[in-house]
Parts: sequence; structure tokens; C-alpha cells
Amino acid sequence: MAGHGMTFAVHHGEYWRMRDHIQKMQGEEQFSCGVVIVAAGRGERAGQSAEGPKQYRTIGDRPVIAHTLDTFATWPGAGPVVVVIHPDDEELFAAARKRMAGTVELTVVHGGATRQLSVLAGLEAVAATGTEYVMIHDAVRPFFDHALLDRCGAALRDGAEALLPAIAVADTLKRTTTAGFVAETVPRTDLYAAQTPQCFRLESILSAHRQAAASGKSDFTDDASIAEWAGIPVLLVEGSVDNFKLTLRRDLSMADEKLTRMAIPDVRTGNGYDVHQLVDGDGVTLCGVFIPHDRKLSGHSDADVALHALTDALLATCGAGDIGDHFPPSDPQWKGAPSRIFLEHAAQIVRERGGTITNADISLIAEAPKVGPHRQQMRENLAAILGVSLDRCSIKATTNEKLGFVGRNEGIAAIATATVVYTSRSKLDVDDRY
Ligand code: MG
Repeated sequence: MAGHGMTFAVHHGEYWRMRDHIQKMQGEEQFSCGVVIVAAGRGERAGQSAEGPKQYRTIGDRPVIAHTLDTFATWPGAGPVVVVIHPDDEELFAAARKRMAGTVELTVVHGGATRQLSVLAGLEAVAATGTEYVMIHDAVRPFFDHALLDRCGAALRDGAEALLPAIAVADTLKRTTTAGFVAETVPRTDLYAAQTPQCFRLESILSAHRQAAASGKSDFTDDASIAEWAGIPVLLVEGSVDNFKLTLRRDLSMADEKLTRMAIPDVRTGNGYDVHQLVDGDGVTLCGVFIPHDRKLSGHSDADVALHALTDALLATCGAGDIGDHFPPSDPQWKGAPSRIFLEHAAQIVRERGGTITNADISLIAEAPKVGPHRQQMRENLAAILGVSLDRCSIKATTNEKLGFVGRNEGIAAIATATVVYTSRSKLDVDDRY
């Protein structure tokens, strides 16, 4: 921005946040601003065809509009949110809304024949909520952030009647002749590219919109121009270069790549713990290996304490309850069952939910029998059951130094940790069966 001879009114949201904090301490009312999201466009320039309007196209595994809505949903200053959609897009919007990470109270209204008339419909709906301020934002600008909203909120609170985020034009501009030659170079000093959200005192912009519609004007392409037309002074605040509008098909693929690069790996760990009592017998089954011994583990199934702990650890990576939920001890069909069934089932749940098991680690705590000679076979069993390589399966064993119930040979305990990387958020977000 430097060198353009202009200083933006508000550079940081810090001041606003601090003032909010002070007002909160003083018991004053929190700032709240209504939001109108304009999502009624058909978006022909992005290549309409069978792929549908671009606000519903997928970037970073979710529809564009879900990203946009989430940024408002998680901003403390957001008041009532109105989304203006095309009447044909009810189903698309309902599906997109389910893909939001956050939740927000939404009113959905149908748009009009032009962007201007769609915004008017949204403003009428948001006015019904009694909000004092409104932000009008294009659904196809998913890359705005809270810092930008803070700057806008601060300017509204400082008394601006109308404002828009803008960035200085960086390219040299040429005006052309109809024949495609340069007619002149346009000085770019004082030239800014307008973004959204454009923000207003609701009363002012609603009245300007009504006036414009009543006078037969219906082709204003942004709301600041309606404010200008109505003689309302429009303040510029610093926009954000990331806040670009998805216009062309190429913009969508760029946005998708950007989000994929930014994605935080969804790595989850779960732990499990189990104990079974030792009673007189001829051997114990640990990690699917039968080890001859003068005792056995008591339990409904084969009492494989190690596989039980790991089953719980796997289920814990996707909130899928515990082994008792899936295989109730009261159910006679699991009597004497090999515990690999339980672990296979947990691994299947994890995979169905988009998980890839990357590590399984079990610690056995027992005074006897010795685990060491069987460790390799145990790891091989785990690798086969889970369908992962051997180096991702770990078995460790320790005694309990003759302390406690384990030390007295009354039982064997196992602790397990599972690590799973989830790549498909869709199943996790939508499927809440467990
Ligand atoms: Mg058990």
C-alpha cells in the first residue's frame, strides 16, 4: 500500500478486540453485525455445465460456500446470517450446509433476477432481525479472514456509514481501442480493487437499495456503488490479497490446491487398557499366540487382553465407543470367540470412516509367562489382522516388579496406543452413527 499516498483508516483488529474486552468487563453490549451472503449467482464464467454453480463446487474437500459460512460462524462479531440462494439450489445448499464445520443460525431467502435484487431480498430479511449493521459478502470469496472482519467491524463502530475492503491495483492499467491497441495508460495512483464484505449501517444501505429498485435500477454490481449513488460516503479499509473472487474454472482449481496445501493432517491417537484375571489352566492367548502356561486368562471370549486393549485404542480414534459396545459380554455368540474378530471389526470401522492405521503399539504387563520368545509372532499377527506392515506393529512387555495384582500373578494387564490418519473428512462430518 505504501507509495499510494493513502493510509487506511484501520490496520489492525487489535484495538477492536481490546475494546470488546474492556466493554465486556464493563458489562456493555457486544458488537454484533448482521451478515448477508450472496449465493444466488449462476457463475457462467467458471463453466456452468453439469458441475453446477461455483459456490457449491468442492475446494479442499468441501463446497466453497461451506468455507465462507464457517469464517462468519466462528467470528464473534457475527449476528444473524442470511443466505440468498437461487430457487433451484435448495438441495445444493442443504447439502453444503451439512459440510460446515461450525454451526450458525441461518435464514435462507431466494434471490432475484440480478445480484442487486438478490442483495435487496437479503437485506429485507436481515432487517427483520433488528440488527444495526450489516456485512454483505460474496459466497464465492472463501478466503477472507477474521482479521479482515475485525478491521471492518472496527470501522463500523467508529461511525462509518459505509465501507469496503479494497486493495491497491498492482498492475499497470491500459485502456484499449476497439481494435485492440493501447489507447492510453491509466495512472494507477488512487485506483483500488473493491472486495467484500462491504459493510453498512443497515438502515442506510437498505434505504439506498429500496430507492434504487424503486427507480428501476437493477444492475449495480456491488453495494458500495449503490451507496455512492445514494450519496453515502464510502470508506476504504485495507482488504486482503487472499480474498479473491472465484470467477474462472482455473480459480477453483487454484483454490483447491491452496486448501489442500494448507490442510492440517488429521492424525489421531487412541489408547486402550484391559485386564483379565489369571485362573488355573493350561495356557494364555496373547496377541493371538497361545502360550502354554500353568494358568489361563479368565473371560467370556478367549480373553486376549492385548487385542482387547488395541481394539479399544482403534475405536477411540473415531469416537466409536469401546469393545463392550460392539461385542457385549452378555451376547452368547462371543463365548470363547477368538479376539481377532474384535480387532478386525474395529479396523474395519476405522477404514470405513476414512482412516489409515499407521501404528499399533501394545505393552503387556505380566510376571509370567515370558513374552519375548513370542513377540515376533505377535507382531506378525497384528500386521495380518490390521493389514499394515510389520514395522507399524509393536509389542513390548514388562513385569510389574512383583507389585500389586499383576505382581501377585492374579492377572495380566495390557495398554495399547493406536495412531490413525484420517483423510476423508466427509464420512466423519456426516456419519454420526456411533
Ligand atoms: Mg477384555
